[in-house]
Amino acid sequence: MLKITPYIWLIVFIVSIGGLWFPILGYVMAVVMLTLMTTAVFRGRWFCGNLCPRGSLYDFTVSKMSQNRNVPSILSSYRVRIPVFVVTMGFMIYRLTTALGTQNTFDNIGTVLASMCVTMTIISVSMGTYLKPRAWCAICPMGTLQRVLGGSKYQLKMAHDKCIDCKICEKKCPMDLEVRDIGNNPDCIKCGRCVVACPKDALEF
Ligand code: SF4
Ligand code: SF4
Ligand code: SF4
Repeated sequence: MLKITPYIWLIVFIVSIGGLWFPILGYVMAVVMLTLMTTAVFRGRWFCGNLCPRGSLYDFTVSKMSQNRNVPSILSSYRVRIPVFVVTMGFMIYRLTTALGTQNTFDNIGTVLASMCVTMTIISVSMGTYLKPRAWCAICPMGTLQRVLGGSKYQLKMAHDKCIDCKICEKKCPMDLEVRDIGNNPDCIKCGRCVVACPKDALEF
């Protein structure tokens, strides 16, 4: 986890609230999307665990009020993720296409992006409050995209001979993964919290 990770959630508020008055802030969303698509090719979902402003929001603020209910496993299946991806991306592309035909195209595109940020934030914070903080990350279209682009890259490795089955790593995992049987799990967000927490240095990237 990068040192800036605990603070970058502020960007969510700057874009969501500031975007109402300054549409140019919506373009931060475009920068985020381009960055995560680039990093995904080399490191899978690394962006989610280190640079995503919303991921930081869930881990460092939503976690304080979350009910911590288990996330239903069906949410992380492709049966749910693909429809969520198609609907959200389709809706965004439709709105961007509509904005292209207007007079103030630059501002209108910014407004579309900022409003997507607000909508996703409201939905994901509600999910994170009712379920576990990162519940949204099970179905997030950008998480799914990173998984598809580089899910097999930069995998966590475990030295089974060092492991004492204390399960500390699994308690620390924000994605609720079975770290001891991690294998090549494409939904590991490479946050490194399990690596730091392991008392036996059994985990590494
Ligand atoms: S899954 Fe989506 S919201 Fe969650 S950390 Fe990744 S990009 Fe951000
Ligand atoms: S924290 Fe380390 S020793 Fe404990 S279960 Fe996880 S990998 Fe094994
Ligand atoms: S398995 Fe480890 S690195 Fe991967 S998401 Fe869980 S805590 Fe982070």
